This record gives sequence, C-alpha cells and structure tokens, in this order.
Amino acid sequence: MRVDNEKKPALGIDLGTTYSAIARWTDKGPKVYQNPRREYTWASVVYYDERQTKPLVGNLALRKAIVDPVNAIIGVKRMMDDGNQKIPLGNEEFTPIELSSMILKDVYEYAEKTTPGFDPAGVVVTVPYYFTALQSSNTAEAASLAGLNMLGVIQEPIAAALAYGIHEEDSIDNEIIMVFDLGGGTFDLTIFKLINEPDKLTFDVLATGGDDRLGGLDFDNELTDLIQKKSGLNFTQHSKEEQLKAKASILEAAKEAKEILSFEEFTEIIKPNILPGKHIEVDLTREEFEECINHYFSKMDLILDDVLEKSSLSKQDIDRVIKVGGSSRIPKIDELLEKKIDANKVYGNIDPDLCVAQGASVYAAFLDDRIQWSKEIEIKTATAHALGVGLSDGRFSVLIPSNRRTPCEATRMFTTNLDHCEELDIDVYQGSSKYIKNNMKIGTIQVTGLEKRPAGELDIDITFRINQQQTVSITVVQKESKIRKMESLNLA
Ligand code: ADP
Ligand code: MG
Repeated sequence: MRVDNEKKPALGIDLGTTYSAIARWTDKGPKVYQNPRREYTWASVVYYDERQTKPLVGNLALRKAIVDPVNAIIGVKRMMDDGNQKIPLGNEEFTPIELSSMILKDVYEYAEKTTPGFDPAGVVVTVPYYFTALQSSNTAEAASLAGLNMLGVIQEPIAAALAYGIHEEDSIDNEIIMVFDLGGGTFDLTIFKLINEPDKLTFDVLATGGDDRLGGLDFDNELTDLIQKKSGLNFTQHSKEEQLKAKASILEAAKEAKEILSFEEFTEIIKPNILPGKHIEVDLTREEFEECINHYFSKMDLILDDVLEKSSLSKQDIDRVIKVGGSSRIPKIDELLEKKIDANKVYGNIDPDLCVAQGASVYAAFLDDRIQWSKEIEIKTATAHALGVGLSDGRFSVLIPSNRRTPCEATRMFTTNLDHCEELDIDVYQGSSKYIKNNMKIGTIQVTGLEKRPAGELDIDITFRINQQQTVSITVVQKESKIRKMESLNLA
C-alpha cells in the first residue's frame, strides 16, 4: 500500500450536517487532523454579521450562533437540494453551495496549516447514500468553489465500511455488515456484503434506508421543549428577538445535557439569566430524555425492519454492526440493537465521529494511486431512490424502483397527451413520492420532430439503464417518427 506523504497527502473530508472532519491516509492507516484546540471535529456552522469582514466558520461560529442565532446557519447540508437559494446572513445573502464551500475550505485550511509546503494529491468528500444526483453535484460544486482538487465523492456508509474493512483487513473473510449511522441531521442504515480477497475488497450494498429528518438536532429540539416545560418559564411577554435568544440558550444547554446523559444517569441544567431575571435550574434523568425522544426510536425500529426485509436477510445473518455518528452513543441505541440484531455484534473498535472521514481518506489514496495500492476496491451499489419520468397529471411514473441493484435496465411505453404535438419534454425525476412535485428533477430530455398525430396514438418507448458508475442513460424511441435519442445523466 501507498506510504504516507505528509506534504502531498490524499485527503478525505466528512462534510456533516452538524460536524465535519478531515483525515489523510498514512502507511499506518488513516489519520484525522486536529484543530488548534485539539478537537477532531468542526461544527458545520457559518456565522456572519455586518460588522465582520468575512464569515466565521466552525466551532467559533457555533458559539456565536448561540448568542445571535439569526445570523448563523446550522445544517446547511439539509438545503443542498436547492443549492442556489438565497440565505440571508447579516446584510448579505449566501447560497447553500457557497456556505458548504466555506465549511470545506475552513476544514481544509486547518489541515494545510499543520504542514509547511502542503500540496495535497486531492480530496474525496463524502455525501449521504440517499443524496440525489443534484445534491451530490451541488456538494462537488462546493468543493471546487473552495478550490479543492476533487478526486471524487464517496457515500458515507461506504466510507465507514471502508474504514472498518481496512482496520480489520487481516481478520475479515466474508461478512455481512450493517452500518447504523445516527448523526446530527439524519438516520441512515445500510447493509453490505464485504468480501475480502487477496487482491480485492468488495463492498456490495444489499439494502439501504433511513430518515433524513431524524438525528441529534431533532433530539435537541425535543429536549429543549422538555426543559422549558420543566422550568415553568414562559417567554411570551418578551420580544421575538429575546425569545429566539432564550430558545438558543436552552438549546445549547439541552445539547450539552443530552451528551452528558449518554455517560451519566442524571444531570442538572443551570443557566442563570437566560433573559434578564429569568434562570433555568432543572434536573434531568437519562430516562426522561429517552422518553421524550421515544417516537424517534419507534421510527428507527420500523426502518430496521424495513431494511432487513429489503435485504432478504434475517437478524442472524448480520455479522457486524458498525455504529457511526455522534448520536449513536445514546445508550438506548444499544437496547434497540440488542432487540433487533444482537448487541454482541456491535463493533467497538472504531470512532463513530471519525470513521467517515477516515474511510474517505482511504478512498482518496486509492483513487490517487491505484497502481501502488495493493488492492482493488470495488463498490457495488443499489439505487437509493426510484427513478422515473413525470406524467402530465403530476404523477411520477417509476421505471427503476429504489433499492434495485445496479447495473440495471427498464423500459416502459408512454404516449403523447396532446393532439398533433411535434415536440415533447420528458422530465426525469428521482424520489420516493407518487407525485413529481415532491421528487427531485434531475434532467429533461427534449424530443423534437414527432409526427403530427392525435393524442395517444404515438407509442414512445423510454429505456433507463444505470451502469456501475451510477450514470443513467436514457433512450427514447418513437418508431413512426424515426426518432431514437439517447442522453446520459449522472446519479452520483
Ligand atoms: P453529522 O454527521 O450529521 O454532522 P455527527 O455524526 O457529527 O453528525 O453527530 C453529531 C450529533 O451527535 C450531534 O447532534 C451531537 O449532539 C450528537 N452527539 C455527540 N456526542 C453525543 C453523545 N455523547 N450523546 C448523544 N449525542 C451525541
Ligand atoms: Mg455524519
């Protein structure tokens, strides 16, 4: 395998909803960079007010966000489906692509500062498995805007599994692994088959599922409500701005308490003067916290069943569970995993906060120099979203369902819905809703030169083919008009 090159490293960046991290590949495995405060993770937060010359990013921005929440953005990753929307901060506006690029640049610059003459071979940035083509390409655009030399993107559960695979390379043969990722913004569950051969490491994604509105941020909000209720405080007579400040301050206390309760059974929240003359002093037990987020556990329970079913496996077939994400530290997660799989199968030898960045650096080193890398890495994936076309009544007609192994192919017949039309726009969507308005448009294929016929008379064959590289090629055939048109769209 490639030896470490400190000055010219292959880098992996985990661009998280709430926290990000950066690692490089070394001959002893992946190494995560520390920032000057000896932290391994950076808050994915941007803060800007009119007094600043440039936006503030990271853990300092998170602290500013607590006193002035209006001028801060937390969780910009949740906005990547519309990368160019305008988000006001201070007296300026920024797009999600710009905000993400600031986070990437900040993280990168910390790594850069550690080494004189830093000239990386390139960077791999991670994206969630469920990200659509558009969200992934917006992320890649953010990386180029930050001036990073992108080697590629890798999906987060694959990066985590890769970190595990490299760590346990000597002891793995064939395994079924489940990556259980509960972070700040999302819950993602992925089942892989990991095959370790002398010259090749294969990751075969068998099933995936999750919820992109289920994570630590949601738990913080629930706990904030509980703390406010227990404190008996009421802010309704205060101004909107003061209410926001008080809420942000309780939210910070809630997050801290939540994290403590993963290690302690009990904690006490003391916050003097959250507003003039108003104090918070509340006792909280782990049980109370877990109770207030119980409905999220029911959701996770259902998702676990669903993903197992999609994989056609039973719980006995799972050899290992890899916990990823800061929220996977909540003790009740182990109860859930005990009930659904077997707590003894949970792998403990990997850091849930860092393994995604670590795995991304492994992949970066592999992409940078496949020849020196002694092993091929092969990733076989399944579609995370259904893929299809929009119908004139707003419904989504699915050609390739979600969780279909790639490569795959499907054809369906459509027809014109207007009399004598000569042109047709075929809109291609990704998503899980029956209606296109809830799904993501990934492209349009314009067909021109149709024979003029009454509506419904011309058969239009549409074929979708997804290859191993997650490119979908779409072929439209209309025989009478002698039309055969092919276009490609990128999914990853
Ligand atoms: P993401 O990848 O979505 O940014 P992370 O994996 O970095 O998320 O996880 C961040 C989340 O984990 C935050 O919501 C944080 O509060 C939560 N978290 C971190 N440590 C703990 C802990 N000890 N107990 C519970 N939650 C934690
Ligand atoms: Mg994460």
